[in-house]
Order: sequence, then C-alpha cells, then structure tokens
Amino acid sequence: MASYGAALKGKNRAAFVGIADPKKPDLVKKQGQLYDNLQKIPFKSATYSVDAVDGGESTFAQGAQATVTVNFDHQISGVDKEPVEERYRWTVVRGATGLLVTDVGAPSQRRGYPAPWDSVPSLTVVTRTHVVVMADDTSSGFAKSHADALESDAEYDFAHWTGGSGTAPGFAVFLTSNRTLYQDIYDQGRDESVGVTVPMPAAPAPTPAAGTGSGTVNSASYPSSRIAVDTTHYKNVDPADADIVFKHEMTHAMIDPFEDVSGRSQQDHLWVVEGFAEWESQRMYSPTELLYDGASLHSYASKHGAPKALPTDAEVYSSNSDTSGSSYFYSHMAMRYMADKYGPEKVDQFVLYVYKHATGTMCVDDAMKNVLGTSTDQFTSGYAAWFRSSI
Ligand SMILES: [Zn+2]
Repeated sequence: MASYGAALKGKNRAAFVGIADPKKPDLVKKQGQLYDNLQKIPFKSATYSVDAVDGGESTFAQGAQATVTVNFDHQISGVDKEPVEERYRWTVVRGATGLLVTDVGAPSQRRGYPAPWDSVPSLTVVTRTHVVVMADDTSSGFAKSHADALESDAEYDFAHWTGGSGTAPGFAVFLTSNRTLYQDIYDQGRDESVGVTVPMPAAPAPTPAAGTGSGTVNSASYPSSRIAVDTTHYKNVDPADADIVFKHEMTHAMIDPFEDVSGRSQQDHLWVVEGFAEWESQRMYSPTELLYDGASLHSYASKHGAPKALPTDAEVYSSNSDTSGSSYFYSHMAMRYMADKYGPEKVDQFVLYVYKHATGTMCVDDAMKNVLGTSTDQFTSGYAAWFRSSI
C-alpha cells in the first residue's frame, strides 16, 4: 500500500496502474484515468492505507480472494484545513507475482466515494487562489470560463464573514451537466438539488502501529467539504444566477468546519443552515431586485402568505418542490429580517452559535437568547410583522 501511494507521489504511472489485474482491461484503464486525474489536483498530502481486510490473512494463500477497505487520506492545498478521508473497497487476489486488484467499488462507509477523480475519464482541473474547480467534459468550458467568477464568489463570501477564524480556507467545486453523475458524486444523497455541499470526514489521526490504519477518527467536526453543481441550468442564463448558487454552496462549505458533529441532534435547524446561505448569496440585492421561482418577492409572498412559524427541517428538505422552495424563501427572509433588525454581524454570530451547539436540541432558542437577546416566539412574531410590511 505504501508503494501504491509512493507511485502517485513519485509520478510512477506504471506502478500505480500495475496493481490492477492485467486480465481486467476496464479496471486497468480506470486505474490509469484515476492516476492521470490525481496528478492534476494540487494535493498537499495524499496517502493510502489499508483500513480492514475481510477474508482472513491466514487463509490468504495464492489464488484466494479478499476484500480490503482502503483509506485515501488526502489534503487539497488551499481547500482542506487538514487531511480528509475517502474510502474504497478493493477485491484482491494473490497471484503468482503478488497481490492484484480485481475490482474497485464502494465500501460500506463511503466517505465521499466516488470523487470526481474516480468518476470522470479525463478531469478538467482549473485552480485559482481560493478554488479548485473540477469538471467533466460536459462542463469543461464552463469551468474555464467561470473560474474567475468562482474565485470572486469565494472572495465575496470570505469578505462578508465576521465570525472569526476557523472557516474553510477555500473550496473544491465539481461541475457537470450529466444528471446521473451529479446525483452519484460523493454519494451526495440530495437528488432533487442543483447544487450540494458534502461534508468530508477527517482522516484518522496517525497511529503508532503504522500501516494498520485503525486510528480513531476525529469526529467532533468535519474539517472540509466538497461542492458539486449541476451546470445544466446555468449555461445559458445570466452569469449572476450561477454566482448565486456558487456563493450559496460556498457559504455552506465556508462554515461547515464550525459544526459540532460529535453527537446526533433531534433536528438539523435547516432554516438556519439554508436561510443563511440564501441570505449570504443574495444580501446585496434589495427585495425589489430579487426573484423567487421567477416571481418578484412581493408576488411570491402574496401567493404563499405571511409566515406563521419558522420552517421545519421536513419542510426545508421536502421532496415536494413547492414546499421546499417556499421554505427556502421563508428561511432566507428570516435571515434578512435578522440582518435588518439586529445587523449582519449578529446574523453571523447567531449562525456560528447554532453551528457550534448543533447537537443540542435547544441551540436555536439559546442562540436567540444569548446572541439576539430575544426568544424564538418574539423573533417569529417580529419576523411575521416585518414580512407583511417589507416584502
Ligand atoms: Zn444550501
């Protein structure tokens, strides 16, 4: 496994590809594509280790087959604060000349598998100071023509953030208009979306018993994220529309490292998560400049009515696009109200508080009290009154 990683680092394509069973031409080809793709990514570090072997090493004689979970611990320069981990499931056999990989697939805990470098025959990679843009052939031109805009979107989000250090340093963005590929990438699980931010788990801390790879995962937070955007809707529209989706996803990725994921919460406070990303990406627009679902805010609001409560998690991520769309809208407006009444810096502090206490069921109520000096009920009624008079 060390020689496999060394082959990547030492630019030894033959050794990297040579682990694949030569009797499996498709696998050999994919292995070559993976090598070529990985060479384009600005990695600060990239190592492979075996996490677990199923099949028993004692019975692992010549001709025997075993399933191996392989960790790919890697850190993209300018994007990851610390190494993150992707996992593979390898099927290996012991041949006359040593171990050969006969199949590569998804392990039970995927941890971001498959990444774009696993999925795209020839990855386009364009880098700027704060972004690493990856694309397949459907969006290669888009990646090149929008790279400067993505860098501006990143700088926009960073320039607005007043919540202090600890954000992601930059963003990895994958672009495709291949819907199947978009839905499959990073095992993202948000099939109805057009843009998604996927948190990436930390690589396990190195253990004294090098090579066993069974270190404990530092799971108090996700050190980084990966963004994917379906470019289908953005190729022939005003570039400002694409900038909104990039600013939105980058906002998620920027503050993901703050989220406490050390335990499970009863709810995910999605109106805070999505409302903040919506507000951040569109805060420079006045209400009269904004469109929702093609309608002005005023006509959209007239159709859907004034809010009676803050959107629930089930409403925000509803599979009913009308419910989900209006819940994003109400979440966005709640943040806009918060910025109007308390100031933009309080919005950042509010969101930071909720992220840092995300495992507590009362974190929204506590943030209302500790950051805004109000109660959730008071906030909600103030929001409803503001909504009726301002939108
Ligand atoms: Zn979002």
